[in-house]
Amino acid sequence: MPRCQRTFYRLREGGRVAESGATRWVCPHCPDAEMYETVQGGDLQGYADLAYAFCADGFGPPRDAHRPTLLLLGLHPECAYEPEERRYDIYLQRGSDPWQQRLQIGHEMFHRTCSWGRVFHWSHEMLACMVSVRLLHRHGLPEYARIIEQNWLRDADKLSLAAMQATDLWATSCYPPGFYGRAYAVGVALTEAVGWDRLRPLARRFCPYGAPDVDGWLAGLPPAVRARARAVLSGTGGPGVQ
Ligand SMILES: [Zn+2]
Ligand SMILES: [Zn+2]
Repeated sequence: MPRCQRTFYRLREGGRVAESGATRWVCPHCPDAEMYETVQGGDLQGYADLAYAFCADGFGPPRDAHRPTLLLLGLHPECAYEPEERRYDIYLQRGSDPWQQRLQIGHEMFHRTCSWGRVFHWSHEMLACMVSVRLLHRHGLPEYARIIEQNWLRDADKLSLAAMQATDLWATSCYPPGFYGRAYAVGVALTEAVGWDRLRPLARRFCPYGAPDVDGWLAGLPPAVRARARAVLSGTGGPGVQ
């Protein structure tokens, strides 16, 4: 059973929507009784399958590949792991247009395959943003992808590199303005500095206590490449970084 995305309490029994066959839940915890609903229709599910394949191919299959992933409409995009059902729930924002939903699916599918609902770190947001636009380019929406990229790169000015890296993603569900823009700009600069193939392993590089191990990833790079990556991450080099 999905959760209320505000209170994180579980929703109660859902009902079937006769026209679409979707299951719908009305939140019993919030005064405005927002609705949640399973996504019916092959297009978005098909796109989610493509997104999963892209992530499994690019970063390696997740160790819990056998666990199902459910697509839902909700309040905002999110990927949550439900331990009771041993299932991932990917929420899309209700009211989004089909392009926005694809952007959201790409981003959240990265989290499903690499963050497992429990990694909250700027490097994963950076990679999720990069995956989402790469998927749009790859699957027939390059103009929309370019608009998103331009918006993010423009937005990056609203948040400094240091402020983006220092944002506590555990403590807030609403990231500061410019967060995704700055994260994406750093991703672009890092890709230019080290290449996508050397950037990808960062997704699965973790410290013993579970946080992404950026220093460990840097240490594994050839020295000249490492110097370029360090310059990007310290704000002393790379385009779009301040
Ligand atoms: Zn609610
Ligand atoms: Zn994210």
